[in-house]
Amino acid sequence: MTTSAINGSAGLDVSIEGLQINFGDFTALKPTELEIRNGELFTLLGPSGCGKTTLLRCLAGFTKPSAGRVRFNGKDVSALEPWDRGIGFVFQNYALWPTKTIAANVAYGLEMRREPKDMIREKVASTLRMVELTEAAGKYPGEMSGGMQQRAALARAVVIDPPLLLFDEPLSNLDAKLRVKLRRDIRNLQKRLGLTAVYVTHDQEEALDISDRIAVMRQGEVLQVGTPREIYETPENAQVADFVGKASFLSGKAISDDRFRLTDGTEIKAKMSFQTNRDNAVAIFARPEAIALVPVDQGDLNGVISEVSYLGNLTRYLVRIGDQIVLCETRDDAVLGQEVGLRLPPLRTFDTLPDRQKSEEEV
Ligand code: ATP
Repeated sequence: MTTSAINGSAGLDVSIEGLQINFGDFTALKPTELEIRNGELFTLLGPSGCGKTTLLRCLAGFTKPSAGRVRFNGKDVSALEPWDRGIGFVFQNYALWPTKTIAANVAYGLEMRREPKDMIREKVASTLRMVELTEAAGKYPGEMSGGMQQRAALARAVVIDPPLLLFDEPLSNLDAKLRVKLRRDIRNLQKRLGLTAVYVTHDQEEALDISDRIAVMRQGEVLQVGTPREIYETPENAQVADFVGKASFLSGKAISDDRFRLTDGTEIKAKMSFQTNRDNAVAIFARPEAIALVPVDQGDLNGVISEVSYLGNLTRYLVRIGDQIVLCETRDDAVLGQEVGLRLPPLRTFDTLPDRQKSEEEV
């Protein structure tokens, strides 16, 4: 099937319906529903082993579903082979042919389609221009930096005008500064071409920066789907709150709509939103930069500074409250051992602490 047989426009809608993937007895992806919209850059974010690559490979056709289906613009493609899906794939390790020049690597997909030679030459040149590799057309992958190789891999993926581009941790072999530049380049190119993109990463900062929407995954499940702002500011559960960005949690129990009693009996009066039935609310959560240090008794609760790290643009404090610790990142000044007040933002409440904290407590 050619690209135009799937779709006349630049991108496509992807529907994932009850998709499940097993390897023997092991379920790598539990039954999953997702709608990825035409033209969006949609990221699968989660820790190692959560099933994000497995899901991506199933969109590509490299892995077949154990149950459920994948649709491109409503058409069931679950049984189609990868080469019949008309999609572009960018791998972590670039996957360029070492014995072909960059131009030949990029031309390959068009040659397979037996496109006219003049058209191939023009298309390869314009695509290399888009990724700023015109000068490197005659070089071999081994003569180029990792960043250049990944731009060549990107050119090779987009040269066939795929409606859907899949990225599997494309930047994880590159150094930090280059990663930031290349992820902006990827997003700009994807928007310029109007393609749909699905992007796999375990790097939450990268996901927040690059994505239109993010699915946060864990242990073969999608925990939440939302815009970067929704995921960061209004996580629906403690696992998402903990995995994306820094988090401050306190454990206790909600005793009314605006009162929370910590495990040591301290009561906090604060605006709370409940992600669960109020009676099950056992954890409150705030982002560290939303907590302010104020003089004792002038905030929502008091604590003692137990660790100070000066980070330049702000200072990171650990504040002990009874037997619990809150992380606070602010430009406010305090010194080790000082008793301070904490002014809290509106709090989110969850019915569990994140697993990480639970296991620390259990130890
Ligand atoms: P990573 O970033 O480490 O690749 P991931 O979230 O992409 O993590 P997957 O590669 O999708 O995770 O793997 C999910 C789970 O499925 C892991 O436990 C992995 O060991 C298992 N798995 C993946 N592929 C296979 C396979 N072909 N056979 C058996 N188990 C597999």
